[in-house]
Amino acid sequence: MNRPKQKRRFGQDLKDRNTTIVWLHVQGFSTADICLLWGIHKETALKAIRVVAPKPKLTAHQKQQISREYKLAWRVNNQERRKANGAAYYQRNKEKQNAKNAAWRAANKELSNAFGRKSTRKILGILNATGESRSGTCPICLREGPLHCDHYHSGSLKGHVRGWICGTCNRGIGSLRDSVENLNRAITYLKGPP
Ligand SMILES: [Zn+2]
Repeated sequence: MNRPKQKRRFGQDLKDRNTTIVWLHVQGFSTADICLLWGIHKETALKAIRVVAPKPKLTAHQKQQISREYKLAWRVNNQERRKANGAAYYQRNKEKQNAKNAAWRAANKELSNAFGRKSTRKILGILNATGESRSGTCPICLREGPLHCDHYHSGSLKGHVRGWICGTCNRGIGSLRDSVENLNRAITYLKGPP
């Protein structure tokens, strides 16, 4: 294809050309059409577009934000892949990871126990003991209504679900520290002197 030889343009002339190129670009003309029209190379047209309508320069903060959003979207859209990657990483670094986990558990006993209880509830099909709602008859006060998930606070069954009772009874046995001895003494106390 014969392109008319490009003349060197200077100053205002060049500025006008660039402005027109950008105008055509904005109007939806393809770069190839613009090149044909002006008899210029593709690079020249692209350069003109870059010069007159430069890409907005992003601040470091904006770049960081875009990257963060991108990462988050990737995580959401590639959950299976993430799981597989995680499992593969664990297999590769089993010993290191186990040692790290043990160290964390030793340093964060309370939190670790809480996670353990949560996981137990998950296994038992109760995702969140305080969040799940059930209703029925309370086995202690025999009243109908919403029930709360009650669990052991100590002993070998610590964290395990004990049953579903009403909120008042749950707080009641909690106030008596889940102690059978305390409850027996409370019964004796309530009965009063014979
Ligand atoms: Zn009750």
